[in-house]
Amino acid sequence: MTLKVALLGAGTVGVEVARRILERPDELRDRIGDDLELTSVVVRDTSKERPGVPADLITADAHVAIQGADIVVELMGGIDPAHDLILSALNSGASVVTANKALLAKHFAELFEAADNAQVRLEHEAAVAGAIPIIRPVGDSLAGDRITRVMGIMNGTTNYILDKMDTEGWSFDEALKTAQELGYAEADPTADVEGHDAAAKVAILASLAFHTPVTIDDVYVEGITSVTAEMVETARAQGFTIKLLGICEKLDDLGKVSARVYPALLPNSHPLSSVSGAFNAVFVEAEAAGELMFYGQGAGGAPTASAVLGDIVSVARRKVLGGRGQYERRARTILPVASLGDITTRYQTTLDVADRPGVLQAVTEVFANQEVSIELVQQSQYDDLEDGDSRAKLVIATHSATESALAQTVKNLNDLDVVRTIHSVLRIEGQ
Ligand code: NAP
Repeated sequence: MTLKVALLGAGTVGVEVARRILERPDELRDRIGDDLELTSVVVRDTSKERPGVPADLITADAHVAIQGADIVVELMGGIDPAHDLILSALNSGASVVTANKALLAKHFAELFEAADNAQVRLEHEAAVAGAIPIIRPVGDSLAGDRITRVMGIMNGTTNYILDKMDTEGWSFDEALKTAQELGYAEADPTADVEGHDAAAKVAILASLAFHTPVTIDDVYVEGITSVTAEMVETARAQGFTIKLLGICEKLDDLGKVSARVYPALLPNSHPLSSVSGAFNAVFVEAEAAGELMFYGQGAGGAPTASAVLGDIVSVARRKVLGGRGQYERRARTILPVASLGDITTRYQTTLDVADRPGVLQAVTEVFANQEVSIELVQQSQYDDLEDGDSRAKLVIATHSATESALAQTVKNLNDLDVVRTIHSVLRIEGQ
């Protein structure tokens, strides 16, 4: 038997996938037990040259390409027409492999229900953290355990920017410009720097890890555009690194799940703090397994193609055996997604205050009034202020507190006449 593969999209990832299917037929047959035949490659612009992809495979007609395919590989990106094409492929009995995080983060439940009803498979290893195997570990390998928390650096562009701000002392703008010149960041970097790309991945991981639907609209998102060189420097002086973290966690006492993306301080002793450049890493905590870490290239044509090809082989093996395998039973209870106010974490607040007796007491009282317990206060004087003002810098780290208590504390600090400026309020994770 020969399994027919239709590839939708031949851009950065698609070309790498096509080339590998065409160049390694014998190896793939050995892995699968049957031949794979790439029957068509769908693109918008059929006149563009696609290195390593024969022109006679190229077409602009996705609907014809899908007909009769055993496996449809969707690497177009975006919601439309990918959404309808995937549904159409599933309904016609093809299994689907996709890397489309934007689509899954919006329509995860609907697409899996369609795959379930059609008794075919829908695989998406490449949709989160590129080459890093994380979907199968979270969805399959740990299916007999109880995952309590997933925390990761899931966007290479922002990790590159924050890393350069930390190690080279660059400003955000300098780091972003270099990331664009090196091809790590898009001309329009919004999806990366505002945290939306990481939020899509958090939604997918939360849905898998906690067996409940979570969409991108449920994820609280803060990007890194407000991170300054001064914040990075203060963090470094305190033994922390600022990272854009995607976090999903089960809040057992509230019967809820939390899904969030924000820049946070990580102690330099935490394994995620040493993830440099454009690399990704995901830290998983499970009841029986304990702590696990997955590290590698989170993007790029060839690395992402590796994950796509793994899914193609997996789907093809099931086709050869017959039967598509059992998906997990749908969750009996749908867990609500917690609001940010429910989250408990530690915080570091950096502020300028008037340098005179009694100020420290006034500031610490504001924290105490909201029952936010202070762990550490560091005070430093400014030398030779040009405006002749006498003020001091306070860095205050708290024990665990709720977001709502901290938000009220910050509001009350702002109202205090001895507080000149609140430079930053950052969450501390990984302690
Ligand atoms: P890309 O370079 O923009 O390629 C998209 C391909 O799809 C192009 O060949 C394009 O055709 C084709 N296409 C788009 N819309 C189409 C339409 N309406 N009809 C026909 N063809 C259409 O994208 P990519 O970077 O390879 O990403 C593909 C998917 O992988 C996305 O879902 C992305 O999120 C995901 N992903 C990418 C990476 C990465 O590092 N790039 C990493 C992880 C996941 P033309 O070439 O003719 O324009």
